[in-house]
Amino acid sequence: MKYGILLAGIFLIILPPASTAAIGEDVSIIPKPVFLQRGDGVFTMNEKTIIIIRNETSSFGSVGRDLQEKLRRATGYPLDIRPNHRSGAVDNTILLTNEVRGQSLGDEGYELSVRKNSISIAAQTAHGAFYAVQSLFQLLPAEVERQVLSGRMSWTIPCVEIRDKPRFGWRGMHLDVGRHFFPAAFIKRYIDLMAAYKMNTFHWHLTEDQGWRIEIRNYPRLTEVGSQRRETMGDCTPYGGFYTQSEVREIVEYARQRFITVVPEIEMPGHSLAALAAYPALSCSGGPLKVATEWGVFDDVYCAGREETFEFLQNVLAEITQLFPGPFVHIGGDECPKLRWKNCVRCQNRIRTERLKDESELQSYFIKRIEKMLNAKGKRLLGWDEILEGGLASNAAVMSWRGTNGGIEAARAGHDVVMSPGSNCYFDYYQGKSGEPPAIGGYLPLDTVYSYEPVPAELSSEEAKHILGAQGNMWTEWMPDSLQVEYMLLPRMLALSEVVWTRPEDRNYQDFTLRLERHYDRLAAMGVNFRVPPPSGIGGRAVIFHDTLLTLSSPVPGGTVYYALGEKDSVPSQLYSRAITIKGDEVLRAQTVLGNGRRSNIATTEFLRAEPELNGLNFTYYEGSWDSLPDFNTLTPAQSGRIYDIGLDVIPHREDEFALRMSGFITIEAEGEYRFTITSDDGSRLFIDGKETVNNDGLHGAREVSSLTRLTRGKHAMTILYFEKTGDQSLDLSIEGPHLARHHVPPRILSH
Ligand SMILES: [Zn+2]
Repeated sequence: MKYGILLAGIFLIILPPASTAAIGEDVSIIPKPVFLQRGDGVFTMNEKTIIIIRNETSSFGSVGRDLQEKLRRATGYPLDIRPNHRSGAVDNTILLTNEVRGQSLGDEGYELSVRKNSISIAAQTAHGAFYAVQSLFQLLPAEVERQVLSGRMSWTIPCVEIRDKPRFGWRGMHLDVGRHFFPAAFIKRYIDLMAAYKMNTFHWHLTEDQGWRIEIRNYPRLTEVGSQRRETMGDCTPYGGFYTQSEVREIVEYARQRFITVVPEIEMPGHSLAALAAYPALSCSGGPLKVATEWGVFDDVYCAGREETFEFLQNVLAEITQLFPGPFVHIGGDECPKLRWKNCVRCQNRIRTERLKDESELQSYFIKRIEKMLNAKGKRLLGWDEILEGGLASNAAVMSWRGTNGGIEAARAGHDVVMSPGSNCYFDYYQGKSGEPPAIGGYLPLDTVYSYEPVPAELSSEEAKHILGAQGNMWTEWMPDSLQVEYMLLPRMLALSEVVWTRPEDRNYQDFTLRLERHYDRLAAMGVNFRVPPPSGIGGRAVIFHDTLLTLSSPVPGGTVYYALGEKDSVPSQLYSRAITIKGDEVLRAQTVLGNGRRSNIATTEFLRAEPELNGLNFTYYEGSWDSLPDFNTLTPAQSGRIYDIGLDVIPHREDEFALRMSGFITIEAEGEYRFTITSDDGSRLFIDGKETVNNDGLHGAREVSSLTRLTRGKHAMTILYFEKTGDQSLDLSIEGPHLARHHVPPRILSH
């Protein structure tokens, strides 16, 4: 038996001890530039440093003033701006010019040259100059990010030559303000964070079943009624909020100054319950309807048979296109159930008169009509990949979220595509396996974001030109406040920024994590609630067969690890300095502490001791697709073996659909009534002494079922059956009995 198989859900990683930063590592730009050469020495800013703007246009001037303002705030130096200075480099100056030396850098590219006596920024456009300034900030000490004067310190910038431009034109972050509402001030902060990492597209998801968040002057009830909900997931607390049009204008302008395009999303035909609560006459049933108070997908959608629906959306989009100057309007198009359309006389009538095949084609009709409206206003339609179903007009663009197939199909059909698959871009997924605040599900650690390649390998180079870029999505069901949004955003957005900016051949995760260390200091100076990763080598449950040495390490070079071994509630207070001996049946808690004082969540591993000869259950694993537990006796197993812990992590290779039988014995130490609880997704059953004890069969999400049974002291035969059909998968068995609180069935009472 290999050691790796004995450890359930734990990874033992031994990393070299963290080293202190060597000279030269102070250049840590994210996203990594195309070309960067470190020179000797540093430029030192002082009270006499001057900013020069050559060939000033108003936009270059405003980039220069932003630079001046931020540097003044941090350093207290006057940093006067002198325009139209014609001579060459002047000592102790920061020059901004649109005279670019080398090859074309495009609209977003720049050159940044830091020498001992002067700094020069060259770009064809103010947009490029703005990115040079962001790189310059990243070369300064982290204190430049503080909102207050940083006192006496040395403002040095290492000498470098940088030539840089992005790989993709769409470098996006999304934010759902429908499930939870975030004030305008936070939207600006979100935009600031995006701009600092050279992201250029803000996808603002403004309407949802649970709230309509933008003032529409023609339809005041959209915000009077649609922006408010009675409660959220049964909390009995009214919730609401919306942005006025003047706030929206202010945010769009704020973003424009930071070279970020705002893409508004107005969801249709589904995810529209808030609008229908305000204007029930636009639904198939005519209402009354209420703003949704729970998360999910709802049957009530815009009626595609009523002309009033299109008139309404035409008027809404007229105001939207006035507010948002960018080329795209996102119209959602995802997750639209067809139930109401099937039973609606008007929708069925539309299907007949338009000679449509079915409700899918009715959705396609809907989207195409909306697209015509947008095109007439000089805008392009963008939607989630469901808009491909039933055909799509040619200049519409697609956001691929259900994996990458939608994006591949769309690019092959000649549509522009933004890649945003759940597997790499859903920032509402968990960032770690232990100690994380509640999230919607899924698992998207930093390295998985970083490893993403937006251009699917299946595409030809011609088709690949349709991939505009990629985007991180921030759905906020489980993000009640802006602190939680920041936590889920950072540092994952930094990994994404490099995915969309840096050439694939220049990307290296190890190198990224080294640079990231400096950025933790910057993020701390910004005062944002970023996630500090817990120690490497911890999380989950682990079965051990003998005393085991456990090595922990800080995932951030220079960070330290604190731990506690033993009682469940203990706080990690012991400084980790050498490997810890684990004897079994104990809980380890550990936490990373960064040099700047920020701490990670506390991650835990539960260690369980077992004897390899004595303990363990036999298992057989089957492949197939079932809606309830199959008859195992008729099946041939695809694999079999022994497991020492009840769960799914112990089964090495699992398909999306499979069934499992675990059998052996359970040892009961004292006679009495025992309660067994099976939690599973999907179905499961428990047999003890050949009798069915718990039945949790059927297709369902994680659900617990329990029952009481009287057992004598000694060994009892036990069998657990389980099957899984797509979606999440889980299995757990707990026991509660005389003088025993409910707990996961420990390996030491299982045998074969
Ligand atoms: Zn209808």
